[in-house]
Parts: sequence; structure tokens; C-alpha cells
Amino acid sequence: MAAKEKLDMFCYQCSQTAQGTGCTLKGIYGKEATVARLQDNLLFALKGISAYLYHARELGYTDSEVDAFIENAFFSTLTNVNFDPQAFLKLALKAGEMNIKTMQLLKKAHIQAFGEPIPAQVRAGTVKGHGILVTGHDLHALDMLLKQVEGTDVFVYTHSEMLPRSRLPWT
Ligand code: SF4
Repeated sequence: MAAKEKLDMFCYQCSQTAQGTGCTLKGIYGKEATVARLQDNLLFALKGISAYLYHARELGYTDSEVDAFIENAFFSTLTNVNFDPQAFLKLALKAGEMNIKTMQLLKKAHIQAFGEPIPAQVRAGTVKGHGILVTGHDLHALDMLLKQVEGTDVFVYTHSEMLPRSRLPWT
């Protein structure tokens, strides 16, 4: 049976970090590699949840449970007092649950604002004239832009994750 590999330690989450660059052996306050990885994972998840929650909020939708989870989870990484890996595993599982809840909230917000997605043909290629390329996931911003260029010779192009806008009735 292969020997269990030891995780590399690296953390630069706070101003106390070793040499001003990163704790590579152990945290100044004793944090171990496993907890550092779990905290990084949690922060990565929180960034994603926050981004989608922000889009839902732009359309007037919020969720107090998700808000409370984000505050609590951020706090768990900031205080440097809880180094229990089990606590961070529990938060990771809860983050998955909150992520689904947030995506459901955003879907509801999109449907209320723009209607149920329907099959539609996507126009490919470019047209001579001025153009704006839109990327990201913000259908609300795209909606406002489309309204502003209506009746002008400015064409709006999207790609990748913005393509779902082509399935919405208002396009
Ligand atoms: S949180 Fe701890 S391990 Fe991370 S940089 Fe600060 S002192 Fe180092």
C-alpha cells in the first residue's frame, strides 16, 4: 500500500504570513496544511456563491440563509482560532447546499425578469459596424445594454456563458 502523501503547506491569507510571502511549513499560529487547503476551498466556493448571489440581488432577490452562511463561513477563515478540519469539511458540504440554493434563486430571478428560456437559433459571425463584446454571466447588464443600443448601428456580441441569453424570449 502506497504511503500517505503529506500535503504541501502554503497559506497567505493574513498579514502575519511568514516572510511577508506565505507560510510554507506551518501557520504562524499553528495552522496545518489540511486546514489551509480546506479554507482555500471554502473561500473559492464563497467567491462563486457570492458572484451568483450578486446577480440575483441585482434583480431584487435575496436569501437570508445564504447571506448568513456567507458571513459565518468568511468569519471562520478570518479569526485564526478554529483549526478543526471537521468544521471546515462541514462548511464545505454546506457550501455545496448553499450553492444549489443560490443557483435556484438566480434561475427564479431570471425567469421572473426575462421569461422562461425557449429554444432559439443563435446567430454566428459578425456584421460590419460598431460592436460591443459582452462576456460574463450578468443577464441584467446585458438586458440594459441591449435596450441602450436599440435603434442604433451598434451590434452586441456574446460568447460562451452568455449564450443562454439567446434562449430567452426578449432577445
Ligand atoms: S492565516 Fe496563518 S497560516 Fe495563513 S498566512 Fe496567516 S499566519 Fe500564515
